Parts: sequence; structure tokens; C-alpha cells
Amino acid sequence: MNEMTIFHRILSREIPASVVYEDDEVLAFKDIHPKAATHLLFIPKQFVASIADITSETAHLPGMLILKAQKFALEQGIAGYKLTFHVGKGGGQEVMYLHLHFLTEEKVEGKEY
Ligand code: AMP
Repeated sequence: MNEMTIFHRILSREIPASVVYEDDEVLAFKDIHPKAATHLLFIPKQFVASIADITSETAHLPGMLILKAQKFALEQGIAGYKLTFHVGKGGGQEVMYLHLHFLTEEKVEGKEY
């Protein structure tokens, strides 16, 4: 089931978002309800609904998101941060499009955080 989610619409630019990073594989944007001074969401351009749906074909995607978040933090000079995947409704996942939460109390340089 490939239901259209709000993150599909952000990816296609149908809905605006504060994008902080993009490349061929990933889009990163500010969470609309930040739970820390800096709260970003990293999503893969390849759609997977949840960690719960990962297979051997898509097992590289969570690691890829973590690497992108690590690279972003390094480039921004952010020393400490939290990375979280919410898995399924029971795990607090509301948007059924795989995303990595990136939270830190450090401000992102040159951004409005
Ligand atoms: P989760 O609970 O893991 O599914 O997280 C979904 C996150 O998406 C929540 O933290 C929401 O605040 C965030 N969110 C929902 N809609 C938008 C949006 N249009 N732009 C940015 N973040 C959003």
C-alpha cells in the first residue's frame, strides 16, 4: 500500500517546508512542531513507510539517513544530537513515510533556529 503522505507532498514541493539539506538520496527539513532548539526530519527520496517495512532490499536506507544526519551535523559544527525513528502507531509514528528525527539544543549556523 503506497498511500500518499504529507512527506510525499513536501518532497514533490506540493507543500512548502523549510528545507535545510537536499541531495539525490535525501531531503532534510525543519519539523513544523519542534521538540528541541533544532528539530529536523531526514527522509529518503525512495519511499518506505516505516522501519517496520524494511526488507533486505531497503535495509540500506536507515543507515543512509544516519550518515546524512552525521554529515550535516559535522558541517554545521553540531557536537551532540539525538536521532530517533518512531516505528508504527504504537511507537508514536504519525506520518507513514520513513523519517529520522534529528534533535539538538545547538543552533544551526545561519538558519533561523
Ligand atoms: P512521527 O511522529 O515520527 O511520525 O513524526 C512526524 C513529524 O512530522 C512530527 O514531529 C510532526 O511535527 C512533523 N510534521 C508533520 N507535518 C509536517 C509538515 N508539514 N512539515 C514539517 N513537519 C511536519
